[in-house]
Amino acid sequence: MTALDTLKKYFGYSAFLVGQEELINAILNRNDVLGVMPTGSGKSICFQVPGLMLQGITLIISPLISLMKDQVNALTQAGIPAAYINSSLSLSQIDIVLQRAKNNAYKLIYVAPERLQMDGFLRFAKSAQISLLAVDEAHCISQWGHDFRPSYARIPEFIYQLSNRPILTAFTATATDKVQRDIVNLLNLNSPFVLITSINRPNLYFEVQKPKDKYAALIHFLKDKKYQTGIVYCSTRDTVEKVCEKLVANGYKASRYHAGLSDVERHQNQDDFLYDRAQIMVATNAFGMGIDKSNVSFIIHYNMPKDMESYYQEAGRSGRDGEPANCILLFSGQDVRTNMWLIENDEQAQYPDRATEEILKERSRKRLREMTFYCETKECLREYILKYFGEIMQDRCENCANCGDATPMIEATIDAQKILSCVYRMKERFGITIIIETLRGSKSEKILKLGLDKLSTYGICEKSESELREIINQLILSNYLVKTDELYPVIKLGKKSSDVLWNKEKVFIKLSTKTEDDKIRVRSGKKSSVLRAVDQKLFDVLKKQRLKIANELKVPAFIIFPDSSLVDMCLKLPTTKEAFADVSGVGQIKIERFGEIFITIISEFLQNDEISVETPPNPKEINLSEIEISSEPTTVSIIADRINCLLMRYAYEKVSGVRINDWLISKGYLQTTTENGKKYKIPTDEGTKLGITNEKREIRGENTQIIFFDIKAQQFITQNSLEIVKNR
Ligand code: ADP
Repeated sequence: MTALDTLKKYFGYSAFLVGQEELINAILNRNDVLGVMPTGSGKSICFQVPGLMLQGITLIISPLISLMKDQVNALTQAGIPAAYINSSLSLSQIDIVLQRAKNNAYKLIYVAPERLQMDGFLRFAKSAQISLLAVDEAHCISQWGHDFRPSYARIPEFIYQLSNRPILTAFTATATDKVQRDIVNLLNLNSPFVLITSINRPNLYFEVQKPKDKYAALIHFLKDKKYQTGIVYCSTRDTVEKVCEKLVANGYKASRYHAGLSDVERHQNQDDFLYDRAQIMVATNAFGMGIDKSNVSFIIHYNMPKDMESYYQEAGRSGRDGEPANCILLFSGQDVRTNMWLIENDEQAQYPDRATEEILKERSRKRLREMTFYCETKECLREYILKYFGEIMQDRCENCANCGDATPMIEATIDAQKILSCVYRMKERFGITIIIETLRGSKSEKILKLGLDKLSTYGICEKSESELREIINQLILSNYLVKTDELYPVIKLGKKSSDVLWNKEKVFIKLSTKTEDDKIRVRSGKKSSVLRAVDQKLFDVLKKQRLKIANELKVPAFIIFPDSSLVDMCLKLPTTKEAFADVSGVGQIKIERFGEIFITIISEFLQNDEISVETPPNPKEINLSEIEISSEPTTVSIIADRINCLLMRYAYEKVSGVRINDWLISKGYLQTTTENGKKYKIPTDEGTKLGITNEKREIRGENTQIIFFDIKAQQFITQNSLEIVKNR
C-alpha cells in the first residue's frame, strides 16, 4: 500500500497537505527528518502514516498528557492500534499496556519524555522493535526556546540504549534558527531531511487593543459571537477567576482552567469545552497544549503573554479548521510588569545551576521585550510575527488591524531629532522614562539630581508622556534607537540615527488615534466561501447526529468527524457508501461505523426536498469550461477575474491572483527566487512545461517580473478553480 493509500484508508484524505508527502517519503527512505510546520498543518500525519507502513512500533515523545489522550482517542476511532503511557495511568494499567505492547498490539505508542528513563519502560524499549521515533514539540530540547524541558535533553541517552537506532524525526511549530540548529545537534539527527514550511496562518486575523476597560472590550467582542467557541487567556489564576465569574454572571457559558483547580475540576472543565458544553474557556497558559479542537474561532489574550512563541502558539489554537478566526490581544502596561515578575519568580522553571539560570532569565527578558514591541508596532502584525521567526513577507497581509488601519502616516522628523539628540546628550546612559522626563522638562528630584536639567534638550518637547513613549517605541522598531538587553534597559542611538540628525532622512510614523478607547474594533472575519455555500439546515442536522454519537462513545465531537467533513458532506451530498468514501476526512473504518447513519440523514433530507433554494449545485455540476480562456498569454489577475465571474454566481467568495499564485507554488509550478534583494515568483521546470513564462519589465523605474499563462496553463488553473477556492 502506498503512503497515499494509507492516508485515504485510515484518515480519509485523498491528498497530502503541503510538506507532508516530502517528509513521509524521506522517512520511508530511512532518513532522519526535521519538520518545522505551523499548527494545524498536519504534522501528526507525517509520522503516523509511515508509522503504519513500517514494520514494528513508532514511539512518539510528547510533553503533555492531554495531547496523548486526544491523539490516541482519534487514532482508535480510525481503527489504528495505539496507546499512551503517562502518569495519568495507574501502575497496573501501565503494566497492561506494556504487556500488550510486547505482544505487538500497538503500532503507535505515545510517551512523555520522563518515561524514557524509567526502568520498566526502558526494559520494554530495549527488547521491542522500535523502527521510528518521533519527537513532537521538539523545540523543548533547546535552551534558546521558550519551553525548555531538561527531560528532552536525555532523549539521545535513551536512543543510545536501544538495540537498533530507529529513524529519528523531530517536529515543531515554532522554532527560530537557533532552536532549529539545537534540535538537529542535540538530538543527533543524522544528515536530516529538513522541511520548513511557512508558519503563516492566513485565516487568522490579528489585532492589538489597548482598552481602558478590558472586560468591557471583551463583552463588546463577544456580542455577536453567540455560536462561536473561543479561549480567553489570562496571565494569572486570579484574573481567570474574576473574568470567568463575570462572564457567567453575564449569561455566558464560560468555564475556567488553571493549575490551582483540582484535577477533577480541570478535567471536567476541559471536557465541557471540548464537548461544546462550554462556549468560552477562560484559562491561564496551562490550558491548551494538545487541545486539538478544530472549531475554536477566537483567542482573546486578556493579558500580553511572556513571549512571541507563547503568543503564536496560543493564538494558533484558533482556526485549525481553516476557517477565519480572530486573535486579539488586550494590552496594558501592567502586563509587562506582571511578566517581569513571573520571569524573576518562576517556581516551575528548572535550572541546572546559577549561571545558566541568569543566562536563561536574560533570554526570557529579551523575548518579553520583543513581545512588547509587537503590541506597539504600527506595521503589519503578521509581518512582525513572521519576521520574528525568520520569515520575510513580501506584502502587507491585509488581515490584521494594522493593515486595515486607516490611520495616516505622519511626519515626525522634528520630534525624532529632539529625542535622538537628547539620547546623544545623555551619553546613551538612561532608560525611556528618564528620557521622556528630560524632554518634557520634569522637575522631579531624580532629574535635578542627575543634572539633566542642564542639557540643551531639557524641556524641548510639549508632547504628552504617552505620545513620546509611542514615538520612542516606533523609533526603536525602525532601528533609529536601540534598547539594550539588560534588566533595566537603556536607550542608545541606532545605526540609522545619524541620517535623521543630519537631516538626510525623514521619519514617518503612525500615532494611535484617540478614538473611543474601549471599543474593540473587530472584523467579523471573512466568511468562508464553503460554509456560506452549504445548506445550514443540513449542516445542523449532521452536527446533532455527530454529537449524539460522540456522547455515546464518550469522545469529543471533532474526533468523530471534524467540521470540515460535515461541510464536505453538505457539498457532496453522498447517498451511497462509495460516494461517502469521497468525503474529506472519512477513512475506511469510519465509512463502516458511521456511513449508513449519515447517508440515511442526507437521503431523507434530499427526499423531503429540504435543501434550501440558495443551496448551490453540487460542485461537480458547475461547468468550469464556461470560464473564458484567452488565446494570448495572460496574467494571473485576469484569470482570477474570469474565475470570479463564474464562481460568484454560486456564492463562492472571490479568489485573488495571490491565492492562485500560492496554489501554484504549493503544487510546484511556481517558485520564489531572490534577485538583488528582491523576491520574485518564477515558473519551475514543471511550470514552464505547463505554459507559464516570466518576463522582466521595468515599471516606474523599478525592475520587476511579470508572469504570463498560455492557453494550457489557463485551462489548468480554471479547471482547478474549485480546489483553489476551497483550499483558502
Ligand atoms: P499539527 O500537529 O501540525 O498542529 P494536526 O496533525 O493536528 O496538525 O492536523 C491538523 C488538522 O489537519 C487535523 O484536523 C487533521 O486531521 C487535518 N489533516 C492532516 N492531514 C490532512 C490532509 N492530508 N488532508 C486534510 N486534512 C488533513
